[in-house]
Amino acid sequence: MSAPSTAAAGRLAPSPSGRLHIGHARTFLVAWWRARSRQAKLTLRIEDLDAGRCSQEHIDGVLEDLEWLGLDWDGSWRLQSTGLDQMRAQAMDLAARGLAYACTCTRKEIAAAQSAPHGEEGPRYPGTCRGLYKDLDSARRSSGREPALRVLVPEGELHFVDQLHGTRAVNVQETCGDFPLLTRGGEPSYQLAVVVDDARDGVDEVVRGGDLLDVTARQIVLQRLLGYSTPRYAHVPLIVDAQGTRLAKRSAGLTLAELRARGVRPSQLVGAVARISGLPEAQEGRPHDFCAAFDLERIPAGPWWYDTDASSFRRPPYSPPEAWADVPE
Ligand code: GLU
Repeated sequence: MSAPSTAAAGRLAPSPSGRLHIGHARTFLVAWWRARSRQAKLTLRIEDLDAGRCSQEHIDGVLEDLEWLGLDWDGSWRLQSTGLDQMRAQAMDLAARGLAYACTCTRKEIAAAQSAPHGEEGPRYPGTCRGLYKDLDSARRSSGREPALRVLVPEGELHFVDQLHGTRAVNVQETCGDFPLLTRGGEPSYQLAVVVDDARDGVDEVVRGGDLLDVTARQIVLQRLLGYSTPRYAHVPLIVDAQGTRLAKRSAGLTLAELRARGVRPSQLVGAVARISGLPEAQEGRPHDFCAAFDLERIPAGPWWYDTDASSFRRPPYSPPEAWADVPE
């Protein structure tokens, strides 16, 4: 493999909050193929900020699963939690520049103040504490509560291009609201952590799961406020279950550990993923075998479902073969 060029960089960013499943395998293989085929540096960052859900056992599991798939990365892998000071410093810098503010609202208060439908990240923040406190300390003193820090999201429309989903136009205030940079416990939020880490690693292209397409606008807002350049994005279509529902972290039977225990070979899985990632003729192989032919633009849109009996992917919702129609329920 040729030496990575210094300018191009991608990353794998798993969260060790459960075992990796077939959907993660698909996303990480595509991210790996993309980085390797464009001679980009590829880092592995383990996103362990959610202390309640992340564990050493899952970190070990993530490494075992990535290695089993045959994926590698450049340099040593890194835990996201080793960079907290830099994230906090960037958040405080935004506060000092008047671009972030202390917020003493509880979740309950925010939910009660908000009539708009709630997204996955909870209700959009209505801006109650905007302009209320001089800084975190005065918010703490006058409210008697531990404050969070929220970014002051500007008005206006933001456009960005996703290489697999086309151009997106987002009204940032309406979509994002003033989202948190630091929690009430002073912990960096996921949005802040990802943006600071991608800039730190010089990532010029983010290839990740399609479930994160909607939070990309928040990350671009932050990149602009922090003076970082915005990477290119490609959000890989999700793997779903037979009914078309997104896989949860602990999807029964579809973690790589479970597939491995049932005798599935990594080469089988890699070949199956290649077939739904623009290489329909792919046979079994190692990730490296598909690098030269891989082309991000040939990835078909839409979700897939993994049929464990056939060890291959199908389009959902799954319709049983004719012969099954007579089987009594
Ligand atoms: N750690 C996140 C996840 O596993 C991915 C974050 C990202 O790729 O930006 O869902």
